[in-house]
Amino acid sequence: MGTLFVVGTPIGNLEDVTLRALRVLKEVDVILCEDTRVTKRLLEKYQIQGKQLATYNDKKSGLRIEKIVELLQEGKNLALVTDAGTPGISDPGSLLVSKIREALPDVTIVPIPGANAAVAALSAAGVPASDFLFLGFLPHKKGRETLFKEIAASKRTVVFYESPHRILKTLESLKTHLEVSPPSERKVVIARELTKIHEEVVSGMPAELLEFFKINPEKARGEFVVIVS
Ligand code: SAM
Repeated sequence: MGTLFVVGTPIGNLEDVTLRALRVLKEVDVILCEDTRVTKRLLEKYQIQGKQLATYNDKKSGLRIEKIVELLQEGKNLALVTDAGTPGISDPGSLLVSKIREALPDVTIVPIPGANAAVAALSAAGVPASDFLFLGFLPHKKGRETLFKEIAASKRTVVFYESPHRILKTLESLKTHLEVSPPSERKVVIARELTKIHEEVVSGMPAELLEFFKINPEKARGEFVVIVS
């Protein structure tokens, strides 16, 4: 039976990849990608050539789970990568791993640790992070306001991912739920475009951050991690 390597890749800066990840990507028979174009950029930078790449989450052209299971049964070693960071953390990686575990309970699945946006953000945020609650992406509609209530009531640092379309709305909601009377002391940290050219970590009360993004609308773009201390 082959081995499935779950390989962490960069969250922006292509230098944020481990030597082990590069070796595994060089050695495996097939690399299972979220988007082959994204993975090709990483492989090109490190001159990893001639690899068979396949998508696993594209219904039309992707490899079906049966085919992936067959490859492992034939003894092929596979690497699973996603477009950014650690596969399975708020991306399609976890579904594939769970399906493979279900189909092949004896298969060896090896994690190759790498970058993760939430952990990178926490490391630079300067907030208590010995324990924290990670919520991934918040639901867009149903249950969203309830979650904000829970975030406001939580005694733990809370971390979640947010898209540029919703970052201002999210800050409005945090303002409503955190700055109640008596106002909470809980600071919000926004980590944006980590490891990339426009990387920035800003913190303050939700109203201050809203003001910041209103004055600097160009900064309400890119990828965001939100931390509520
Ligand atoms: N698997 C990834 C990880 O380990 O962090 C997360 C994938 S999830 C589909 C993508 C989200 O992660 C983005 O919408 C953003 O919220 C966050 N993210 C990814 N890269 C980021 C970066 N460079 N800076 C800030 N947030 C980032």
